[in-house]
This record gives sequence, C-alpha cells and structure tokens, in this order.
Amino acid sequence: EAGRKLFAGEKDFLKGVVAMSGLPPDDRIEVCFAGRSNVGKSSLINALTGRKGIARASNTPGRTQEINFFTLAESHYLVDLPGYGYANAPLAVVEKWQRLLKQYLSGRQSLRRAFVLIDARHGVKKVDEEILTLLDKSAVTFQAVLTKADKVKAAERDKVMAQVRKRLSAHPAAFPEIVVTSSEKGDGIETLRAIIATLI
Ligand code: GDP
Repeated sequence: EAGRKLFAGEKDFLKGVVAMSGLPPDDRIEVCFAGRSNVGKSSLINALTGRKGIARASNTPGRTQEINFFTLAESHYLVDLPGYGYANAPLAVVEKWQRLLKQYLSGRQSLRRAFVLIDARHGVKKVDEEILTLLDKSAVTFQAVLTKADKVKAAERDKVMAQVRKRLSAHPAAFPEIVVTSSEKGDGIETLRAIIATLI
C-alpha cells in the first residue's frame, strides 16, 4: 500500500539547517514534525522510516537547534524541527529557535502538514501552545500525534485525548483527527505513514 511504499526506499539524511539561507529549495512536497524535547520525536521518525538512528535521540539543546531534512521517496522531504521546551535552555537559544521556526513556517510553500507530537501521558502543555499558535498564524495545518501510548492505560489515554481535542478546538489550523502511536510497540505507525502518503 501507498504508505509502506513511500517509506520503503532509501532514507537519506540530507542536511541540518541552522539558518534560513541553508534551507533546501522549496520545490519538494514535505511534511514536518515538531514536539517538545523528550516527547519521542526521534523514536517516531526512526519507526516511520524503519531506520534506527536516522534521527538522533538528542537531549542537548545545542545539537537540536537545527532543522533536519530527510529525503522521502526521492522527491519529498520529511522535516525534523528542533525540539523545544528545554528546562534550562538559555534565552538566546530559545529566541534563535523561535526566529528560525517562524521564518520556516511562514514561507514554506511546499509544506503540506505539521505533525505536532504530544506525550500520551501529559497532553498539551503550555510550551506546546506556542508552536500551535505559530502554526495558526502561519496557516500551516497541523495534526496532533500522541506518542508513547504504550505507557498509559486506555482509560487514561482517552482522558488525555479529550484534553487534546479540547485544546485543538481553539486552534483554527488544527486537523481534527488525532493519531495515537507507540514507537516502542509500532502502534499507529502504518496509520501515520498512510496519512503522509495521502499528503505528498
Ligand atoms: P525526542 O527528544 O523527542 O527525540 O525523544 P526520544 O525519541 O529521544 O525519546 C525520549 C525517551 O522516550 C527515550 O528514552 C525513548 O526511549 C522513550 N520513548 C520514545 N518513544 C517511546 C514509546 O513509544 N514508548 C516508550 N515506552 N518509550 C518511548
């Protein structure tokens, strides 16, 4: 099926971008992934692409202030946005992150959707609201992806889903369907691949 095919080829890391001038040309349809640090973004990208270690699991602010581009099915990009919400990130780092992200999101014609990762145990946090608002302003449709679903019981997950749904309803750019995933167990990975396949 389409989703599997899309992720079957070579997934090459193209480049890490630290400034707008370094962005690859805006001529390939792409999707991006955002989430606060430690939400499970690297693990999810690795699970999606089926290649361990393609996205670094990184917990140091310095290494992750880059926008990472991976090629997808030769003519598309999967874009890994820098993690946010580090407890002790210096203001200068936060500001640089905000500036780069704002520039990327507001001018990227080929960006079809942003996937915003939310921990299935914690729901939407205050630090997430910032990017959700930025996505609204940039008119980039975003879809919430719950991560680490294996860490919560169904009843707890449903409670978090309800919270997320409620928070999303305040955001005009939110896509209503929420995807539940576990990179550990593989849950939701095929679903997410299929969604991406319909977009690109
Ligand atoms: P990132 O900082 O957002 O890239 O997060 P990572 O992918 O590095 O994951 C942060 C931590 O959560 C790591 O210890 C992972 O092993 C763990 N983790 C990530 N995804 C899952 C998952 O689906 N289930 C469980 N149980 N743990 C996960």
